[in-house]
Amino acid sequence: MQVLSLEFLAFLIVAILIVTFMARRKRKGPVIVYGKQISFTGQKLVTPISVETPLVCLLDEGKIYGEDFKEKTPPDLPHNEHCQCRLEISINRSRDWFSEKKKVMEDCINSDLGELSRTEYRYYKYALLAHHKEADEQTRKEYKELQENISISDEFKERVKLQIS
Ligand SMILES: [Zn+2]
Repeated sequence: MQVLSLEFLAFLIVAILIVTFMARRKRKGPVIVYGKQISFTGQKLVTPISVETPLVCLLDEGKIYGEDFKEKTPPDLPHNEHCQCRLEISINRSRDWFSEKKKVMEDCINSDLGELSRTEYRYYKYALLAHHKEADEQTRKEYKELQENISISDEFKERVKLQIS
């Protein structure tokens, strides 16, 4: 007796192909439907960064809190007597994900070093954390590494060095 008939084999191959195809499609994740707006609303913690900014404020700076985010509830503000943090409504719309306009808007950020680009801002923030008097050894080390991994002009490095020393 023939165990596998030719028809059965053909059916089996087609079935395997269909299952593989379906599995692949699933793995591709959500498909963005044009015209449909996806948005996440949260509260973004903002604080002016400077050599005077308390450690806890620097660590929370830029975090977004809300149902759709990792951190659900914002901290009680003010953090302490020197805290200048505030919460801003942050709406993240899918139509902005690829838009240049939003990126440009975020590109100038104020600090006690003046207006900074995104990269300069990140470098400065990490430098502040790496040299913060309230930070423990581990935190300083962590941020020192992050700071050193950013490529930035020597001129800006010098400005930051002068500011924090
Ligand atoms: Zn604060």
